Amino acid sequence: MGLDRYVNTFNRYLRERFGERVARISFDTGIPCPWGKCVFCDNRVFVPPTAIVPEGHGWEARFVAQRERAAARYGARKFIAYFQSGTSTAGDPERLGALYRRAAHLDGVVGLSLSTRPDHVSEEIVRRILAAVPSPDTDIWMEIGLQSIHPRSLAFLNRGHDAADYDRAVEMIHRVGGDRIKVSAHLIAAIPGETTDDLLETVRHATAHPAVRGVKIHHLQVYRETPLAALFEREPFGLPGEEEYIALLGDILRALPPRIVVMRLFTDAPDDRLIAPRWRSGTQELLRKLEEHCEKHTIRQGNNGVPA
Ligand code: SF4
Repeated sequence: MGLDRYVNTFNRYLRERFGERVARISFDTGIPCPWGKCVFCDNRVFVPPTAIVPEGHGWEARFVAQRERAAARYGARKFIAYFQSGTSTAGDPERLGALYRRAAHLDGVVGLSLSTRPDHVSEEIVRRILAAVPSPDTDIWMEIGLQSIHPRSLAFLNRGHDAADYDRAVEMIHRVGGDRIKVSAHLIAAIPGETTDDLLETVRHATAHPAVRGVKIHHLQVYRETPLAALFEREPFGLPGEEEYIALLGDILRALPPRIVVMRLFTDAPDDRLIAPRWRSGTQELLRKLEEHCEKHTIRQGNNGVPA
């Protein structure tokens, strides 16, 4: 159970929806991000070396090998094909549609998840996604990187889009895809200059539309050889310690409607890539501490400070 007692976690959602444990397997379109300018971005952190591009020689065998590894490690027999890196809706729509179809029809795959930017979601691509995954038994998730609704923060991160792009993308996905497509918002916490209220405003805005069914949140990290690293070295800015971030997560969880599936709350990075913040605890320990924090402060997702 763990954190599931306090939070509508993705694992809990998947168990309720598919009746058993579902594991994620990383896929990649192989197409570079057309923006490539976010100050924090380091594809060596974001693209797992094992991510599968579903075309060309040998990709199906790589999927089978990963499926077997996931089965041995988690006892999973069902899988989400997760196009997690870069902007997985950017590129030739016909080719992308073929990649999505191949991934979604693999044996054991019960869901397709695509991460992207709000300004790279066209009506055509949404129709290709729907055509690639016709069965309602297979989940479709579109994870849209908003990060913040605040113009100053988006400029700081050099995202190259605004909150209105996100609102337009979500509305269009809902209009074209109806209930077939579940949107999740990708947000960054503890952006320099943002207050807790700023962050909660982003959380509420990002999850208000009925098409938005999930959220993925993590704190800002500084990776080596990125524009953010150069900025951090020139003018170091404050980043949260682990206790401070856990307290912030408590506030976020209270503000999150219970219907929203929480897909992620922590992130980690290879030790040799991460400059700051450097925390003592690993992800499992952090999850345990968050659980303790929720218990101690009577936090339940969406309870807004009211004991459940
Ligand atoms: S949109 Fe995503 S992949 Fe592209 S530069 Fe920004 S963070 Fe990196």
